[in-house]
Amino acid sequence: MKFCSHCGEARLELRVPEGDTHRRLVCAGCGTIHYQNPKVVVGCLPEWKGQVLLCRRAIEPRYGLWTLPAGFLENGETVTAGALRETVEEAHARVEIIDLYTLISLPQIGQVYMMFRAHLKDLDFGPGSESLEVTLCAEADVPWESIAFRTIARTLRNYFLDRRSGHFPLRVSALERPLPLPPDLRGAG
Ligand SMILES: [Zn+2]
Repeated sequence: MKFCSHCGEARLELRVPEGDTHRRLVCAGCGTIHYQNPKVVVGCLPEWKGQVLLCRRAIEPRYGLWTLPAGFLENGETVTAGALRETVEEAHARVEIIDLYTLISLPQIGQVYMMFRAHLKDLDFGPGSESLEVTLCAEADVPWESIAFRTIARTLRNYFLDRRSGHFPLRVSALERPLPLPPDLRGAG
């Protein structure tokens, strides 16, 4: 962000406002504080007779890798409406949401994932503009080495583990980016 969206002033300063705890972009002209907070990613884990619906990405990042239908929540949208919308957009699939299943914080990139378990209503699905292909996948056929995001891999792993007991508690967790290797270990492997 380079310009103040309130007054158009070009000088934004990064500093801790009085009484605050975090550095913020503050307009040097009008004093408006431009808060930047995490984005919410909402999506579905659609299931059909023991199989799950996976989409192969037609866009970067992670072009060609597999994921669950998910995307950024829009302003004015509830989390379930957003999850349903993403499932229609990416997989042309209609689902019935069962429950919130994984809630994953990614503090280093400022995102929160909310993935819902869902029943596929019918087999009338197919790739949306952001997908190369959409398929139903049994546990044994999941392409674990080609899953696009760690959040999605975690959601799928939890799901197949929990399915053995038939009990799907809400799984709240966090994914932190691994710390960089110290210089003397770089390139060692
Ligand atoms: Zn301003």
